[in-house]
Amino acid sequence: MSKIHELSENLSNQIAAGEVIERPASVVKELVENAIDAGADRIRVDFTDAGLRQIVVQDNGSGIARDEIDLAFTRHATSKIQTERDLFNVGTLGFRGEALASIAAVARVEILTAVKGQVGVVADFSGGVKKRQEDAAAKEGTQITVSDLFYNTPARLKYLKSPRTETMRIVDIINRIALGHAEISFILANNGKVLLHTPGNGKLKQTVANIYGRKLAEGMLEFAASDPDFAISGLTTKPEVTRSSRNFISLLLNGRYIRNNQLNNAIMDAYGAKLAAKHYPVTILKIETDPLLVDVNVHPTKQEVRLSKEKELSRLITSTLGACLLKASQPASGLGNL
Ligand code: ADP
Ligand code: MG
Repeated sequence: MSKIHELSENLSNQIAAGEVIERPASVVKELVENAIDAGADRIRVDFTDAGLRQIVVQDNGSGIARDEIDLAFTRHATSKIQTERDLFNVGTLGFRGEALASIAAVARVEILTAVKGQVGVVADFSGGVKKRQEDAAAKEGTQITVSDLFYNTPARLKYLKSPRTETMRIVDIINRIALGHAEISFILANNGKVLLHTPGNGKLKQTVANIYGRKLAEGMLEFAASDPDFAISGLTTKPEVTRSSRNFISLLLNGRYIRNNQLNNAIMDAYGAKLAAKHYPVTILKIETDPLLVDVNVHPTKQEVRLSKEKELSRLITSTLGACLLKASQPASGLGNL
């Protein structure tokens, strides 16, 4: 008898889920990114008990056709890329085709979805197995309900932090995604209490006001610049308005929230000695570039990306923010110069 055998699809999905779905906030991130990729301009997220009892994400995007439900929940099945070439030119937030299969492997999932002009569908999955699928009345868009996350992988539960911390991670990820998409209206509610409601009118300052407060938003400086490869824009605080954590710096690359220490440092370099030790600005930095310059396929969660020309981008950031801070520190010059 041979000792080596292939794992069942279900088991390999559970293994993959270990990388993609680490905690409730990962479910929220994946479902919201799917909603954005589906073209939604209204997205609502509800959760209870730090996301462990239930997470519901509703969107008004394109929906999934009845006969594609099974594929949507199959690992490595995606509508977003097709060829090897596409992999190096990813224009969507998703492309790995892993999220729904992974979530369904470690939770109970109900999906209610409809595409324009077609009858909708409702389906249930539990531990990776489809339990039911029926036609259903539904508006164009998708509602996914994830219940009892990690009910069948108890070891995972042990790695989670306190409910308060897990809740904060959900809030943090939605805040950052909302900052990257001022054109989308987001609602986030915990146990029915609305924590965030952004207008979705495209105005970044208003979104920032919703998240960090009106006073902070109003005092922020606007910047924008470009070089042949990158266009950057955003808002940043004056040197005297700081926070004691880097978490208030949000980097959004082609609409994707990313982490990148070198780019954080480029922002800090613009402030130089004006920042007290262990103090950080609040910055929203949006970067637009040709997807060909970005390799998103570095890590399953896609929060770390590899950027060609990172040095050039860092220089652009430091010089743009530097000029912006300098201008703000000078008394308004006008007729006074005469
Ligand atoms: P990926 O996003 O990498 O393609 P997912 O497992 O997250 O993989 O989703 C699989 C497929 O299901 C997507 O490619 C998309 O076609 C479809 N899908 C998932 N969520 C939504 C949604 N909210 N609206 C419309 N289609 C969706
Ligand atoms: Mg996805």
